[in-house]
Amino acid sequence: MKEVILIKNGEIVLKGLNRSSFEDVMIKNLRHALKPYGSATIKKAQSTIYIEPSDDQFDFDRALIRVSRVFGIAAFSRALECEKTMDAIIENGVPYLKEALENARTFKVEAKRADKRFPVKSPDIAAEMGGKLLEAYPHLKVDVKNPQIVVNVEIRDFGAYVHAGQIPGAGGMPTGTGGKAAILISGGIDSPVAAYMMAKRGIELTAIHFASPPYTSLRAEMKVKELLGKVAGYCGSIKLAIVPFTEIQEEISKNCPEEYFTLIMRRFMMKISDKLARNNNCHALITGESVGQVASQTIYALAVTDNVCTMPVFRPCIGMDKEEIVQISRKIDTFDISVQPYEDCCTVFTPKHPRTRPTIEAVQEAESPLDFDQLIDRAISGVTYEWIN
Ligand code: ATP
Ligand code: MG
Repeated sequence: MKEVILIKNGEIVLKGLNRSSFEDVMIKNLRHALKPYGSATIKKAQSTIYIEPSDDQFDFDRALIRVSRVFGIAAFSRALECEKTMDAIIENGVPYLKEALENARTFKVEAKRADKRFPVKSPDIAAEMGGKLLEAYPHLKVDVKNPQIVVNVEIRDFGAYVHAGQIPGAGGMPTGTGGKAAILISGGIDSPVAAYMMAKRGIELTAIHFASPPYTSLRAEMKVKELLGKVAGYCGSIKLAIVPFTEIQEEISKNCPEEYFTLIMRRFMMKISDKLARNNNCHALITGESVGQVASQTIYALAVTDNVCTMPVFRPCIGMDKEEIVQISRKIDTFDISVQPYEDCCTVFTPKHPRTRPTIEAVQEAESPLDFDQLIDRAISGVTYEWIN
Protein backbone atom coordinates (compact mmCIF):
# COMPACT_ATOMS: atom_id res chain seq x y z
CA MET A 1 0.00 0.00 0.00
CA LYS A 2 1.35 3.40 -0.96
CA GLU A 3 0.21 6.47 0.95
CA VAL A 4 0.82 10.07 -0.06
CA ILE A 5 -0.08 13.56 1.13
CA LEU A 6 -2.02 15.63 -1.42
CA ILE A 7 -1.82 19.38 -0.96
CA LYS A 8 -4.16 22.04 -2.30
CA ASN A 9 -2.67 25.50 -2.55
CA GLY A 10 -4.40 28.47 -0.97
CA GLU A 11 -4.26 32.04 -2.17
CA ILE A 12 -1.30 31.23 -4.43
CA VAL A 13 -3.78 30.08 -7.05
CA LEU A 14 -4.72 33.74 -7.57
CA LYS A 15 -1.17 34.64 -8.53
CA GLY A 16 -1.47 34.23 -12.30
CA LEU A 17 1.92 34.22 -13.98
CA ASN A 18 3.81 34.29 -10.67
CA ARG A 19 2.05 31.24 -9.40
CA SER A 20 4.77 28.81 -10.31
CA SER A 21 7.43 30.70 -8.36
CA PHE A 22 5.15 30.83 -5.29
CA GLU A 23 4.62 27.07 -5.60
CA ASP A 24 8.36 26.53 -5.84
CA VAL A 25 8.92 28.44 -2.59
CA MET A 26 6.24 26.35 -0.92
CA ILE A 27 7.86 23.13 -2.11
CA LYS A 28 11.20 24.34 -0.76
CA ASN A 29 9.55 25.18 2.59
CA LEU A 30 7.86 21.77 2.69
CA ARG A 31 11.16 19.99 1.96
CA HIS A 32 12.79 21.84 4.82
CA ALA A 33 9.85 21.32 7.20
CA LEU A 34 9.60 17.58 6.51
CA LYS A 35 13.30 16.76 6.66
CA PRO A 36 13.16 15.56 10.29
CA TYR A 37 10.47 12.98 9.44
CA GLY A 38 12.31 10.95 6.82
CA SER A 39 12.91 10.96 3.11
CA ALA A 40 10.14 11.91 0.66
CA THR A 41 9.71 13.10 -2.92
CA ILE A 42 7.78 16.36 -3.32
CA LYS A 43 6.43 17.26 -6.75
CA LYS A 44 3.68 19.37 -8.28
CA ALA A 45 1.15 18.77 -11.04
CA GLN A 46 -2.29 20.17 -11.89
CA SER A 47 -2.31 22.69 -8.98
CA THR A 48 -1.68 19.91 -6.47
CA ILE A 49 1.53 19.20 -4.59
CA TYR A 50 2.29 15.52 -3.93
CA ILE A 51 4.38 14.31 -1.01
CA GLU A 52 5.49 10.70 -1.53
CA PRO A 53 7.48 8.99 1.22
CA SER A 54 10.54 7.18 -0.16
CA ASP A 55 10.24 4.28 2.33
CA ASP A 56 8.30 3.20 5.41
CA GLN A 57 10.76 4.91 7.74
CA PHE A 58 8.82 8.13 6.97
CA ASP A 59 6.96 9.34 10.08
CA PHE A 60 3.61 9.97 8.39
CA ASP A 61 1.64 11.06 11.46
CA ARG A 62 4.11 13.72 12.58
CA ALA A 63 4.69 14.85 9.01
CA LEU A 64 0.95 15.49 8.68
CA ILE A 65 0.94 17.67 11.80
CA ARG A 66 3.87 19.66 10.41
CA VAL A 67 2.13 20.03 7.02
CA SER A 68 -0.91 21.47 8.82
CA ARG A 69 1.31 24.40 9.90
CA VAL A 70 2.98 25.22 6.60
CA PHE A 71 1.69 28.54 5.28
CA GLY A 72 0.24 28.69 1.77
CA ILE A 73 -1.76 25.46 2.07
CA ALA A 74 -5.57 25.65 1.83
CA ALA A 75 -6.22 21.97 2.51
CA PHE A 76 -4.49 18.61 2.48
CA SER A 77 -5.40 14.94 2.51
CA ARG A 78 -3.77 11.70 3.51
CA ALA A 79 -4.51 9.51 0.50
CA LEU A 80 -3.98 6.04 -0.86
CA GLU A 81 -2.33 5.93 -4.28
CA CYS A 82 -3.22 2.98 -6.50
CA GLU A 83 -3.30 1.80 -10.07
CA LYS A 84 -5.82 3.50 -12.37
CA THR A 85 -8.32 0.65 -12.67
CA MET A 86 -11.70 0.27 -10.94
CA ASP A 87 -10.58 -3.13 -9.60
CA ALA A 88 -7.48 -1.68 -7.94
CA ILE A 89 -9.40 1.29 -6.57
CA ILE A 90 -12.02 -0.93 -4.93
CA GLU A 91 -9.74 -3.73 -3.81
CA ASN A 92 -7.33 -1.31 -2.07
CA GLY A 93 -9.62 1.63 -1.33
CA VAL A 94 -12.35 -0.21 0.59
CA PRO A 95 -10.07 -1.63 3.32
CA TYR A 96 -8.02 1.59 3.35
CA LEU A 97 -11.08 3.59 4.44
CA LYS A 98 -11.86 1.26 7.37
CA GLU A 99 -10.57 3.53 10.13
CA ALA A 100 -12.36 6.62 8.78
CA LEU A 101 -15.67 4.84 8.20
CA GLU A 102 -15.82 2.54 11.21
CA ASN A 103 -17.03 5.25 13.57
CA ALA A 104 -19.13 7.18 11.07
CA ARG A 105 -22.81 6.73 10.39
CA THR A 106 -23.20 8.55 7.08
CA PHE A 107 -21.01 9.10 4.02
CA LYS A 108 -21.02 9.94 0.36
CA VAL A 109 -18.51 9.38 -2.44
CA GLU A 110 -17.24 12.16 -4.67
CA ALA A 111 -15.27 11.19 -7.76
CA LYS A 112 -13.12 13.44 -9.94
CA ARG A 113 -11.70 12.36 -13.25
CA ALA A 114 -8.86 14.78 -14.04
CA ASP A 115 -7.45 12.18 -16.46
CA LYS A 116 -10.22 11.96 -19.07
CA ARG A 117 -8.64 8.85 -20.62
CA PHE A 118 -9.97 6.86 -17.67
CA PRO A 119 -12.93 4.92 -19.18
CA VAL A 120 -15.41 5.18 -16.28
CA LYS A 121 -17.22 8.51 -15.81
CA SER A 122 -17.19 10.28 -12.41
CA PRO A 123 -20.83 9.51 -11.39
CA ASP A 124 -20.27 5.85 -12.23
CA ILE A 125 -17.03 5.72 -10.24
CA ALA A 126 -18.86 7.22 -7.25
CA ALA A 127 -21.81 4.84 -7.58
CA GLU A 128 -19.64 1.73 -7.83
CA MET A 129 -17.38 2.72 -4.93
CA GLY A 130 -20.42 3.70 -2.81
CA GLY A 131 -22.03 0.32 -3.40
CA LYS A 132 -18.87 -1.57 -2.42
CA LEU A 133 -18.47 0.52 0.73
CA LEU A 134 -22.07 -0.20 1.79
CA GLU A 135 -21.41 -3.90 1.31
CA ALA A 136 -18.20 -3.80 3.35
CA TYR A 137 -19.52 -1.50 6.09
CA PRO A 138 -23.23 -2.31 6.41
CA HIS A 139 -23.74 0.06 9.38
CA LEU A 140 -23.29 3.03 7.01
CA LYS A 141 -25.96 5.06 5.25
CA VAL A 142 -25.49 7.34 2.25
CA ASP A 143 -26.29 11.00 2.92
CA VAL A 144 -25.56 13.24 -0.05
CA LYS A 145 -26.58 16.47 1.72
CA ASN A 146 -24.82 16.31 5.05
CA PRO A 147 -22.50 13.29 5.24
CA GLN A 148 -20.07 12.81 8.14
CA ILE A 149 -17.41 11.53 5.77
CA VAL A 150 -16.84 12.46 2.14
CA VAL A 151 -14.89 9.70 0.43
CA ASN A 152 -12.92 11.05 -2.52
CA VAL A 153 -11.78 9.09 -5.54
CA GLU A 154 -9.55 11.15 -7.80
CA ILE A 155 -8.22 9.91 -11.11
CA ARG A 156 -5.10 11.94 -11.86
CA ASP A 157 -2.05 11.77 -14.12
CA PHE A 158 0.18 9.85 -11.70
CA GLY A 159 -2.46 7.40 -10.48
CA ALA A 160 -5.78 7.01 -8.68
CA TYR A 161 -6.16 8.46 -5.19
CA VAL A 162 -8.62 7.50 -2.46
CA HIS A 163 -9.07 9.51 0.73
CA ALA A 164 -11.60 10.31 3.43
CA GLY A 165 -11.75 14.09 2.97
CA GLN A 166 -9.64 17.19 3.27
CA ILE A 167 -8.12 18.69 6.39
CA PRO A 168 -7.94 22.51 6.47
CA GLY A 169 -4.39 23.87 6.06
CA ALA A 170 -2.72 26.86 7.73
CA GLY A 171 -3.74 29.23 4.91
CA GLY A 172 -1.78 32.40 4.16
CA MET A 173 1.18 32.73 1.81
CA PRO A 174 4.38 30.64 1.70
CA THR A 175 7.02 31.92 4.12
CA GLY A 176 9.59 34.04 2.30
CA THR A 177 7.33 35.24 -0.51
CA GLY A 178 6.50 38.46 1.41
CA GLY A 179 10.04 39.70 2.16
CA LYS A 180 11.66 39.94 5.57
CA ALA A 181 10.65 41.93 8.67
CA ALA A 182 11.74 42.24 12.31
CA ILE A 183 9.29 41.38 15.11
CA LEU A 184 9.81 43.14 18.45
CA ILE A 185 9.05 40.29 20.78
CA SER A 186 8.27 40.57 24.48
CA GLY A 187 7.07 37.75 26.68
CA GLY A 188 3.47 38.94 26.45
CA ILE A 189 0.42 37.65 24.66
CA ASP A 190 0.32 40.11 21.78
CA SER A 191 3.73 40.07 20.12
CA PRO A 192 3.85 36.29 19.38
CA VAL A 193 0.38 36.65 17.83
CA ALA A 194 1.60 39.60 15.75
CA ALA A 195 4.59 37.50 14.65
CA TYR A 196 2.33 34.63 13.61
CA MET A 197 -0.07 36.92 11.73
CA MET A 198 2.65 38.53 9.64
CA ALA A 199 4.46 35.22 9.07
CA LYS A 200 1.16 33.90 7.77
CA ARG A 201 1.28 36.56 5.06
CA GLY A 202 4.51 35.07 3.79
CA ILE A 203 6.90 37.30 5.72
CA GLU A 204 10.18 35.83 6.90
CA LEU A 205 10.87 36.87 10.50
CA THR A 206 13.85 38.09 12.43
CA ALA A 207 13.16 38.71 16.12
CA ILE A 208 14.42 41.42 18.48
CA HIS A 209 14.14 41.24 22.26
CA PHE A 210 15.21 43.87 24.78
CA ALA A 211 16.53 42.52 28.08
CA SER A 212 17.35 44.56 31.17
CA PRO A 213 19.21 42.36 33.61
CA PRO A 214 19.15 42.34 36.60
CA TYR A 215 15.68 43.95 36.44
CA THR A 216 14.63 41.21 34.01
CA SER A 217 15.74 37.60 34.49
CA LEU A 218 17.07 34.79 32.33
CA ARG A 219 13.72 33.11 32.83
CA ALA A 220 12.08 35.98 30.95
CA GLU A 221 14.51 35.41 28.06
CA MET A 222 13.81 31.68 28.08
CA LYS A 223 10.12 32.48 27.84
CA VAL A 224 10.68 34.62 24.76
CA LYS A 225 12.65 31.80 23.13
CA GLU A 226 9.92 29.32 23.93
CA LEU A 227 7.32 31.64 22.37
CA LEU A 228 9.42 32.09 19.24
CA GLY A 229 9.82 28.31 19.06
CA LYS A 230 6.04 28.03 18.72
CA VAL A 231 5.99 30.58 15.88
CA ALA A 232 8.97 28.83 14.24
CA GLY A 233 6.79 25.69 14.22
CA TYR A 234 4.87 27.45 11.43
CA CYS A 235 7.43 29.54 9.57
CA GLY A 236 10.74 27.74 10.19
CA SER A 237 13.82 28.93 12.10
CA ILE A 238 13.89 32.52 13.39
CA LYS A 239 17.04 34.50 14.16
CA LEU A 240 16.74 36.26 17.53
CA ALA A 241 18.73 39.35 18.52
CA ILE A 242 18.90 40.07 22.25
CA VAL A 243 19.63 43.71 22.99
CA PRO A 244 21.12 44.78 26.35
CA PHE A 245 18.79 47.55 27.49
CA THR A 246 19.67 48.13 31.16
CA GLU A 247 21.90 51.16 30.69
CA ILE A 248 19.33 52.96 28.53
CA GLN A 249 16.52 52.37 31.01
CA GLU A 250 18.66 53.53 33.92
CA GLU A 251 19.74 56.66 32.06
CA ILE A 252 16.13 57.49 31.20
CA SER A 253 15.00 57.07 34.81
CA LYS A 254 17.90 59.19 36.07
CA ASN A 255 17.62 62.05 33.60
CA CYS A 256 14.07 62.37 32.19
CA PRO A 257 10.69 63.42 33.60
CA GLU A 258 8.83 60.40 34.93
CA GLU A 259 5.63 60.80 32.90
CA TYR A 260 7.71 60.33 29.71
CA PHE A 261 9.71 57.24 30.79
CA THR A 262 7.76 54.71 28.76
CA LEU A 263 7.52 56.85 25.65
CA ILE A 264 11.23 57.60 25.59
CA MET A 265 12.03 53.95 26.22
CA ARG A 266 9.80 52.94 23.33
CA ARG A 267 11.47 55.45 21.05
CA PHE A 268 14.83 53.86 21.93
CA MET A 269 13.41 50.40 21.23
CA MET A 270 12.06 51.44 17.84
CA LYS A 271 15.23 53.28 16.82
CA ILE A 272 17.48 50.37 17.80
CA SER A 273 15.14 47.90 16.10
CA ASP A 274 15.09 50.02 12.95
CA LYS A 275 18.91 49.88 12.79
CA LEU A 276 19.15 46.17 13.61
CA ALA A 277 16.42 45.40 11.08
CA ARG A 278 18.34 47.24 8.39
CA ASN A 279 21.56 45.35 9.28
CA ASN A 280 19.63 42.09 8.90
CA ASN A 281 18.07 42.89 5.51
CA CYS A 282 14.59 43.50 6.91
CA HIS A 283 12.23 46.01 5.34
CA ALA A 284 9.65 46.55 8.09
CA LEU A 285 9.16 46.35 11.85
CA ILE A 286 6.33 44.43 13.55
CA THR A 287 4.91 45.02 17.04
CA GLY A 288 2.00 43.60 19.04
CA GLU A 289 0.47 46.97 19.81
CA SER A 290 -3.30 47.56 19.85
CA VAL A 291 -4.94 50.98 20.03
CA GLY A 292 -5.75 52.07 23.55
CA GLN A 293 -4.49 48.91 25.27
CA VAL A 294 -2.04 50.88 27.46
CA ALA A 295 -0.94 54.53 27.71
CA SER A 296 1.90 54.02 25.20
CA GLN A 297 -0.58 52.69 22.63
CA THR A 298 -2.85 55.70 22.16
CA ILE A 299 -2.71 57.02 18.59
CA TYR A 300 -0.75 60.04 19.88
CA ALA A 301 1.81 57.80 21.59
CA LEU A 302 2.11 55.59 18.51
CA ALA A 303 2.82 58.67 16.41
CA VAL A 304 5.61 59.62 18.80
CA THR A 305 7.22 56.16 18.57
CA ASP A 306 6.79 55.93 14.79
CA ASN A 307 8.56 59.25 14.48
CA VAL A 308 12.01 57.68 15.04
CA CYS A 309 11.54 54.87 12.48
CA THR A 310 12.70 54.92 8.88
CA MET A 311 10.83 51.77 7.84
CA PRO A 312 7.12 50.91 7.98
CA VAL A 313 5.84 49.56 11.30
CA PHE A 314 3.24 46.79 11.00
CA ARG A 315 0.89 46.28 13.93
CA PRO A 316 -1.44 43.45 12.93
CA CYS A 317 -3.21 43.49 16.33
CA ILE A 318 -3.93 47.21 16.13
CA GLY A 319 -7.73 46.91 15.78
CA MET A 320 -8.22 43.74 17.80
CA ASP A 321 -9.72 43.32 21.25
CA LYS A 322 -7.61 41.47 23.81
CA GLU A 323 -10.04 38.55 23.68
CA GLU A 324 -9.57 38.24 19.91
CA ILE A 325 -5.79 38.25 20.37
CA VAL A 326 -6.09 35.64 23.13
CA GLN A 327 -8.09 33.39 20.81
CA ILE A 328 -5.26 33.33 18.28
CA SER A 329 -2.66 32.84 21.01
CA ARG A 330 -4.57 29.76 22.17
CA LYS A 331 -4.76 28.46 18.63
CA ILE A 332 -1.00 28.76 18.12
CA ASP A 333 -0.33 27.42 21.62
CA THR A 334 1.50 30.48 22.96
CA PHE A 335 -1.09 31.57 25.53
CA ASP A 336 0.01 29.33 28.40
CA ILE A 337 3.62 30.40 27.94
CA SER A 338 2.75 34.10 27.68
CA VAL A 339 0.82 34.18 30.94
CA GLN A 340 3.77 32.89 32.98
CA PRO A 341 4.59 35.79 35.29
CA TYR A 342 8.11 36.85 34.31
CA GLU A 343 8.86 40.56 34.18
CA ASP A 344 9.42 42.41 30.89
CA CYS A 345 11.64 45.47 30.56
CA CYS A 346 8.44 47.45 29.85
CA THR A 347 7.30 46.84 33.42
CA VAL A 348 10.53 48.25 34.90
CA PHE A 349 10.49 51.98 35.80
CA THR A 350 6.86 52.46 34.74
CA PRO A 351 5.50 55.95 35.46
CA LYS A 352 2.49 56.37 37.75
CA HIS A 353 0.89 58.92 35.45
CA PRO A 354 2.13 58.32 31.89
CA ARG A 355 1.39 60.85 29.14
CA THR A 356 -1.40 59.59 26.88
CA ARG A 357 -1.51 62.63 24.54
CA PRO A 358 2.17 63.39 24.03
CA THR A 359 3.51 65.67 21.31
CA ILE A 360 6.74 64.97 19.47
CA GLU A 361 8.19 68.31 20.60
CA ALA A 362 7.48 67.62 24.28
CA VAL A 363 9.05 64.14 24.08
CA GLN A 364 12.10 65.48 22.30
CA GLU A 365 12.48 68.07 25.04
CA ALA A 366 12.05 65.40 27.75
CA GLU A 367 14.73 63.16 26.22
CA SER A 368 17.16 65.98 25.40
CA PRO A 369 19.50 65.30 28.35
CA LEU A 370 20.36 61.90 26.83
CA ASP A 371 23.02 61.14 24.24
CA PHE A 372 20.79 59.05 21.96
CA ASP A 373 23.42 57.99 19.44
CA GLN A 374 26.04 56.93 21.93
CA LEU A 375 23.57 54.91 24.02
CA ILE A 376 22.22 53.24 20.90
CA ASP A 377 25.66 52.37 19.55
CA ARG A 378 26.63 50.81 22.87
CA ALA A 379 23.43 48.74 23.02
CA ILE A 380 23.88 47.55 19.45
CA SER A 381 27.50 46.57 20.06
CA GLY A 382 26.30 44.32 22.90
CA VAL A 383 23.68 42.45 20.83
CA THR A 384 23.88 38.65 20.88
CA TYR A 385 22.29 36.45 18.21
CA GLU A 386 20.78 33.00 18.42
CA TRP A 387 18.72 30.79 16.07
CA ILE A 388 15.40 29.55 17.38
CA ASN A 389 13.95 26.41 15.81
P1 ATP B 1 2.85 41.93 24.62
O1 ATP B 1 1.66 41.24 25.15
O2 ATP B 1 3.35 41.39 23.35
O3 ATP B 1 3.96 42.03 25.64
P2 ATP B 1 1.83 44.35 25.56
O4 ATP B 1 0.41 44.46 25.43
O5 ATP B 1 2.39 43.86 26.86
O6 ATP B 1 2.39 43.41 24.38
P3 ATP B 1 3.75 46.47 25.64
O7 ATP B 1 4.47 45.76 26.73
O8 ATP B 1 3.42 47.88 25.82
O9 ATP B 1 2.41 45.74 25.21
O10 ATP B 1 4.58 46.35 24.34
C1 ATP B 1 4.06 46.69 23.11
C2 ATP B 1 4.89 46.02 22.06
O11 ATP B 1 6.24 46.42 22.16
C3 ATP B 1 4.93 44.51 22.18
O12 ATP B 1 3.83 43.90 21.54
C4 ATP B 1 6.22 44.18 21.48
O13 ATP B 1 6.07 44.21 20.07
C5 ATP B 1 7.10 45.36 21.90
N1 ATP B 1 7.87 45.04 23.11
C6 ATP B 1 7.52 45.22 24.39
N2 ATP B 1 8.49 44.79 25.22
C7 ATP B 1 9.49 44.33 24.45
C8 ATP B 1 10.76 43.75 24.68
N3 ATP B 1 11.24 43.55 25.93
N4 ATP B 1 11.53 43.42 23.64
C9 ATP B 1 11.07 43.60 22.37
N5 ATP B 1 9.88 44.12 22.08
C10 ATP B 1 9.09 44.50 23.10
MG1 MG C 1 4.48 43.33 27.05
